[in-house]
Amino acid sequence: MNVVKISTRASSAKAPLKAMRLQPTNSLATQVAVRLRQAIIEGELALGALIPEEALAESFGVSRTPVREAINQLQLQGLVYVRPQVGSFVFRPSADDVAALCQFRCVIEPKAAELAYSNAKFATVEAMEQSIESMESALARHDTVSYGHADTALHDALFENCGNVYLQEAYRLAAGKIAALRTNLSAPLDVERPESFEEHKKFVRLFIKGDLAAFAALVVEHVRGSGKAYVHALRSDHDEDLAHALARLSDL
Ligand SMILES: [Zn+2]
Repeated sequence: MNVVKISTRASSAKAPLKAMRLQPTNSLATQVAVRLRQAIIEGELALGALIPEEALAESFGVSRTPVREAINQLQLQGLVYVRPQVGSFVFRPSADDVAALCQFRCVIEPKAAELAYSNAKFATVEAMEQSIESMESALARHDTVSYGHADTALHDALFENCGNVYLQEAYRLAAGKIAALRTNLSAPLDVERPESFEEHKKFVRLFIKGDLAAFAALVVEHVRGSGKAYVHALRSDHDEDLAHALARLSDL
């Protein structure tokens, strides 16, 4: 009987991996990207603003390479767009983009709620209730940025607990933009408007009750309301785009 001798040595031992050039700047770039993302979401860099690469590199105490890499990372999240030979800019959606983003939320968010309800109801409720507390204290301080963050955390809780990595990835593609629009455009209005806070409390009540059909209907109402506020705030000379976007939002 032939015995097949299995080598215990990994075959790669004889042919070691070719030396790869490690990218020492990667983690630095990620740190810059995290900070830049925060600056965009919190409105330190306005929507549509030119990103001052050189000044940023200087203020972070790094070379321009990690800043460029960070910009590439943020470009993948749709937060930045690069105009070759001109520079990098913070995204500024057209009215039609806003309508598409709202449509996306109306499709994806009720599903995330449904999955979070069956997958991790209590953890979701806990996270949402924490967001409500943060919103309440932000309201008392008229703190727009904290209100925007708490609002984002409430909606994020659905995705964090939905247990489906693909849904989470799909959401991540748009989450930065949604958060930036929220902090820059709707939170300043919401801190002056008790209805917004009431709507968020209603989300939690409906979720606890398990009335997911009413929850889904409230998502549409909530998203439509903020979408309309966004397109008006972003209004430029493209009135046709605006009218079209408003029609799309009304159809949600
Ligand atoms: Zn909200």
